Formats: sequence, structure tokens, C-alpha cells
Amino acid sequence: MSGHSINPCNHDIFPPEAPLVNVQVDGEWVQVPKGMNLIEVARRHGKFIPHYCYHPKLQVVGNCRMCLIEMGTPKMSPERKPIIGADGKPEINWMPRPQIACASQASEGLGIRTDSPLTQECRKAVMEFLLINHPLDCPICDQAGECKLQEFSSEYGTGTSRFVEQKVHKPKHQDLGARIVLDDERCILCSRCVRFARDVVKDDVLGFVNRGSYNTLTSHPDKKFDNDYSLNTVDICPVGALTSKDFRFKMRVWFLKETETICTGCATGCNVTVGSREDVVYRLTPRGNEEVNSDWMCDFGRLDFHDLGDSRRISQPQSRAGAEHFSVPWQDVFLQIGQRLAGFKPGEVALIGSARMTNEELYLFKKLAEDLKIELFDIIPREWPGDSFLKSKDKNPNSAGAKLVKFSSGGSVLPKIKEGIESGRIRGLISFHEDATAIGLSRAALEKLSLLIAASILPNDTTTVSHFILPSGGFAEKRGSMVNAKGRLQRLHKAVNPPGSMEDWEIINSLRKAAGSQQNFSSFEEVFKSLSADVPLLAGLNLGKIGDKGVQLDLSKA
Ligand code: SF4
Repeated sequence: MSGHSINPCNHDIFPPEAPLVNVQVDGEWVQVPKGMNLIEVARRHGKFIPHYCYHPKLQVVGNCRMCLIEMGTPKMSPERKPIIGADGKPEINWMPRPQIACASQASEGLGIRTDSPLTQECRKAVMEFLLINHPLDCPICDQAGECKLQEFSSEYGTGTSRFVEQKVHKPKHQDLGARIVLDDERCILCSRCVRFARDVVKDDVLGFVNRGSYNTLTSHPDKKFDNDYSLNTVDICPVGALTSKDFRFKMRVWFLKETETICTGCATGCNVTVGSREDVVYRLTPRGNEEVNSDWMCDFGRLDFHDLGDSRRISQPQSRAGAEHFSVPWQDVFLQIGQRLAGFKPGEVALIGSARMTNEELYLFKKLAEDLKIELFDIIPREWPGDSFLKSKDKNPNSAGAKLVKFSSGGSVLPKIKEGIESGRIRGLISFHEDATAIGLSRAALEKLSLLIAASILPNDTTTVSHFILPSGGFAEKRGSMVNAKGRLQRLHKAVNPPGSMEDWEIINSLRKAAGSQQNFSSFEEVFKSLSADVPLLAGLNLGKIGDKGVQLDLSKA
């Protein structure tokens, strides 16, 4: 993919210096940027114009007709001057026929009526037309609860149907690609998915065939619709025509708790909403942030949560006796670790952390290194091809944060850790969120260690031979902050509880206590306060100031 811009259109965003014009919205005069799309003009002033095909980030096509409104231009005198009414404002010459709001822009003296009897009649007629061939299968449709057809039908429809003829039947359960199923009978031909594929991800494989009532969405006969961003079409499809194979029929959407957080699939840090119920994550959907991901996210990141519900999940702290691991209560595990750590001299222990950990966790991990006088610590870099749209080449979500808190040397210390372990100089290793064999260590080398502590979500080669296993949390199971590749500091919010009941920052805080540290943080807020006091670039920040959209840091000053 090449030549991407995150926002090919942006009908809702205008620079502050854009010239303003006076527009009358339902009788009230307001000032808006010249050229602003009328759906956005209305939205800005608390009026909702229903629409299907219009999307603020896609080209306007004006084909669903749901946004019909009344519109008028200033009445002109014979001298071509606006006629001013008794209220001191231009009088409006209302057009006899309704116009589509999505394809019209704000201009001086324009008037719109968004909820007049005529617009209400138009909406009823459009709804009736759209429902003629619709299967009306809401009870078994996965979109139920977030379907615009359902919503607008109840809000603007007639509630009855005059259609007694046979409906047109179209293909159902179409396998569009690896991740999406298409039900053509539900499609209202808005073309959002076609425009997204063609204009946003430059993968022009969707289109319409046949005519009239038989007009049908399909993919190119020789191609599948399975580009890296395909699931965004499920989000923007206003009806249940496109559904995600991963999510469909798993959970009714009205049961989902929504938590705003960020994706940790790579260093872009796309803003997302986690949908969960009773400590189970069911889906991720993108959350708009113009500074990061616009309204989109990649399919990999969207589906990168299944580890959390993996049946092999480590859920209890464990200690090893012989070749077996046994569950141990948290307080016992920290007691035993503390006793074992006391037997090491400075320089005999190393730490391997992860740039998948939050700033707060890495900050505490660095402090653990100081407590134990550990000189060798680093993160394991991780790369994938990335692309020119959203996927960053850096597959770690918090490489910048790891550098900021001075835990990371970009992986340059890892060869020294490897050599130290292989030579026997390093006798103890604490590995957090990483499999230490990824730095080239053999299991045999790890088995020689007198103390190996591994915190992990799933079993791996390191946990198998470690003396202590600590159940760590995934991205949706923790609070914290990360810094993306462009230096944006963003927050993670906890959507579900970690199975081991302790958040990762608490585990590291307890490890520090076990190692004899006198500094003990009693809340996550306290950790961030200390972090912002110690890291100059974070000075003056608190969790509230980071907010839901993050704040930009100038990493050149780090
Ligand atoms: Fe619109 Fe959905 Fe049909 Fe695509 S599948 S044209 S997004 S209704």
C-alpha cells in the first residue's frame, strides 16, 4: 500500500483561521466555517440530520437520500443585494424541493430546515423505500442494537409497511474474505465500504453489480476482500450487511461494557474501545483520534486480544519444585523471592523487560534494578514490516516510553546479558512479559540460573524452566500510560480484571518490597506522580491531563 493519508476527506474539521459565514439553522443564525458540510453544520449546533451514505472521513456520494432537508439562499434585490428582514438578517428564498445536506456546503446567508414537515415526510418515504426489500431479520442480525436502519426506522419511519409483493432475494452468507461475511439482502447500497476500500486503503475490490432492485454489492471475482484494514468496513456499514467472523453471534452489543483505551499491537497506539462483559473481552473497535488513527485501526490490532481468553492463561503465582510448578499464594511467592534475592551480590542479577509494558511498570522495573544494584537491564526490540498507513514498523507499543524512563537501551545490552548468563557470571534473571530465549539463550542456559523469575500471560520456554512464575496482565487488564512512535503520551484503562488479581504495577511494586525497597506505592496515581516528578518531559502532567486523546511530548527534549 502506498500514498495513504489517514484522512482522504475530513468534512468535520476546519482550521481555526477558516473564514466564517452566517447560516440559519432551524430559524437560528449561527456562524460556521465557509464550505462546511451541512450535516456537520447541523451537528455542531445540536441538530442531527439522519444519514447512511455520508461519513465524515469518506468522499461524499449522496446516494441514500436520507439527509434531505429544506434549504434556501438569501433573497436578492434587483441590485443583487441581500434583502434584509425585520430581524436585521437576510430574508431567505426557500427552494421548493428538498436538497441533500451531505452534498451541500455552508455559504453566506444560507438557511436550512432540518426537521420541518417536508423533511419528516422525506425521511418516512426514504425509510419505506429502503425497507421494501430488506429481510427484516433483526432478531437474528448481529448488528441489532447498533443498526442505523433499525434506529432510524423507529425514529423516522412509519411503523407499517404497504409492501405486499414478493421481496427481491439476494445472496446471503457471502464469504467476502478471511474476516468478513456479507449478507446482500441487508445491504442498503450506501457504498461506504466501497469508498473505504477504494479511497482509504487503495484496495479497490468492492463494487456493485446488476441494476435497480437487483443492484448487489460484491467483491472482484478473482480477489478476496482481506486487506489489513478490512474490518473497518464492519464498523462503518450502517446495517448488518457486513459482519466480523470473529465477533458475530458471540455477544449482543447492548451487554458490552465499553472502555476507552489504546491498542498495543504496534507503536502507533491506535485509540480503541474495548467491548467486554463479565471480565471477558469480546471485541475492539477504533476510537476517533485525529492525532493518531483518525477513525481506523488495522485488523491485526483489532484481533490481538485473544491471548487474554486463552485456555492456557497463567492465572496463579507458581513456584517450582523439581520439574513441577505449584500454585502459591501471592504473599508466599514474594516472601520466597525476597529470601532468594538476598543471596545475590550486585551484578549477579539481570532484568529483561518489555516495551509492551507501561511507563509506570517500566519506571518501577527500573527502580527494582536500582534496589538490587542491577546494571544489566533492557527491553527486547520487536519489528514487523509495518506499512505507510497505520501499522508502525516498531511492533512494540511503548519503545519511546521505555527510553523515556531510561529502562531501554534499544536492545544493545541484551548480548551482555546473554553472555553473562552463558558464562555463569549472571546467576539470576527476572524476565517480564518476554520469553528470554528470544535473545538467543537456550533453555539449557536458563536452567543453569540459580534464580529465574518470569512474569507472563501465557506459558513459554522461559516460564517452563523458571523458579517462579508470576501471572501478568494484558493490555486490557491494566491502567497505565504509553508513548507512541510520534511521541504521544496516551492512557490505558482497565476493561477487565487480570486473572491473577494483581495489576502488573502492583506485582513489580511487591517485587521491590521483597527486594528490601523502602519505597512503597499504595496507589497507581502515586506511581504516576513519582514518575512525572522524575522524568522532566512529564513534569506538570497528571493522569487527568493526559485525558482520552493523549498529549504530545517533544521527544527531542528527552
Ligand atoms: Fe453500505 Fe454496508 Fe451495503 Fe457496504 S455493505 S454498501 S457499507 S450497507
